Amino acid sequence: MTREAQPSSTPTSSDRPLVSLTNVNKHFGELHVLRDINLDVARGEVVVVIGPSGSGKSTLCRAINRLETIDDGQIMIDGEVLPAEGKALAKLRADVGMVFQSFNLFAHKSILENVTLGPIKVKGMKGGEAKELAMSLLKRVGVDNQAQKLPAQLSGGQQQRVAIARALAMKPKVMLFDEPTSALDPEMINEVLDSMVALAKEGMTMIVVTHEMGFARKAADRVVFMADGQIMEEATPESFFTNPQSDRAKDFLGKIL
Ligand code: ADP
Ligand code: MG
Repeated sequence: MTREAQPSSTPTSSDRPLVSLTNVNKHFGELHVLRDINLDVARGEVVVVIGPSGSGKSTLCRAINRLETIDDGQIMIDGEVLPAEGKALAKLRADVGMVFQSFNLFAHKSILENVTLGPIKVKGMKGGEAKELAMSLLKRVGVDNQAQKLPAQLSGGQQQRVAIARALAMKPKVMLFDEPTSALDPEMINEVLDSMVALAKEGMTMIVVTHEMGFARKAADRVVFMADGQIMEEATPESFFTNPQSDRAKDFLGKIL
């Protein structure tokens, strides 16, 4: 008996990119902020996005989570086109966890409630189950002993780790981090980066905007360099940091290294 070969034109869920951007363009008025962005991120891959301020990195993250619309092109998450609105968007957005520069925790809710709210409201999880999940995630990022406190009672580094736990509580397929340590005091940066490195090692698919070269070298599979709304070059961290190709990248690295 001969077995029929799998048609090569239909990728299975394991080999198609988890995040796929095709010819994505975005304007803010006259400003062409994303220019023909093409980017595929594989399951389990960690991509670090770096580039000068104003190059479109945050807009790229926000577009992937559909916090911003795009003018043309296509963004797919795990084989599904990002829907414009409604329940379908909420469902797909739950697949995309996001951690911002400013921690964005709910100021009047406890740390525990900050983490349980999403699973209960969006996923319809029962309170007890949500609490159990939240406590295990808070433990994973080392702040389970802060569960009953309010965000303002925690350090910036602790708050950012809560923000990571909160995003993970939605069981996302991919995590986006937009400069997660740039608002932190220097002594707190590593505790947040350590949580992110651990997450990367566990196989989470991650897109991380950061200028932390140590993180990129430790955890990134690929560095994407953006300038003026364009992806100027992509390489392994080793190759990018030691041998940048474009003048823009050389100039940028000269300023930050
Ligand atoms: P980065 O994160 O790389 O610093 P951003 O994506 O935040 O860059 O911004 C890219 C450009 O788009 C900047 O020039 C910024 O001023 C502009 N921009 C960002 N958000 C908006 C907005 N909501 N309206 C108008 N311009 C914006
Ligand atoms: Mg930004």
